[in-house]
Amino acid sequence: MKSIFVSGLLLLCWQVHANEVKLPKCKIEAVVETPITFFISDSVIKGYEVVDIEGHIQRWLDFSNQALQNSCIPLTRTLDKIIFTPEILGEESEELSVVHAFLEYYYPQEIEALNNAKAKFYGLIYKTNLSKFTSEWCGETNASVYAKFFTIGLTCKDHVLEHELGHLAWASHDMDTLSTQTDGMPFDLSNQLPLSVKHKVKKYSYGYICGGKGTIMAYADQTHPFYSSPTISYGSIVCGNAHYADNARVLREYALSLVGE
Ligand SMILES: [Zn+2]
Repeated sequence: MKSIFVSGLLLLCWQVHANEVKLPKCKIEAVVETPITFFISDSVIKGYEVVDIEGHIQRWLDFSNQALQNSCIPLTRTLDKIIFTPEILGEESEELSVVHAFLEYYYPQEIEALNNAKAKFYGLIYKTNLSKFTSEWCGETNASVYAKFFTIGLTCKDHVLEHELGHLAWASHDMDTLSTQTDGMPFDLSNQLPLSVKHKVKKYSYGYICGGKGTIMAYADQTHPFYSSPTISYGSIVCGNAHYADNARVLREYALSLVGE
């Protein structure tokens, strides 16, 4: 019995070690604050208490800030405002462009001010289980057209806010997911974009799956609290690659662009 107990204990120790996340040591000098305004659609207003809505937002922000810190990215996510928008139903017919047009129509001053502030972002919160969306849907962006705007489902997983903000920083999905999404042409991402923004997609902007879990931009059942990076590892597996999977670098460079000219 004793030997079984000892080997069981050893196995446990090995597993803890095998799943250990090794993060880079980093010296962050100036952190850029990125305040976020959340517009709350009618579908959410009708279905949830204010305290629940605030709780979900806080859960996303907490994950984001931990992940940014883990990835050595000099950004913080903060709550700017919550604006209730009963005019926007959050129903299945509302595409990203349509809901943004509604926001511009009903809240022109707010939208203009948000777009004029370099480090501010804004999103519209849907109820997650709308019939339009597949079970995989949890958020959307179109960075070429709306550089600051995202949609998100209220009950989506912790990492989804940071995933959508990652898209706005021009981080991309993992190679496997992109192969499917681009009919096997994941390396030609920039060719699908307008000329004016092509240069924003970097060769190293892919997410990564390591140890069965995805980094923030990867599609996986479980998500690591960090962006892909060649300086982060999970057990003995490196969670990125300097040539094609370094979204931490993409986000660091984006952070600099928010304070530069
Ligand atoms: Zn995505």
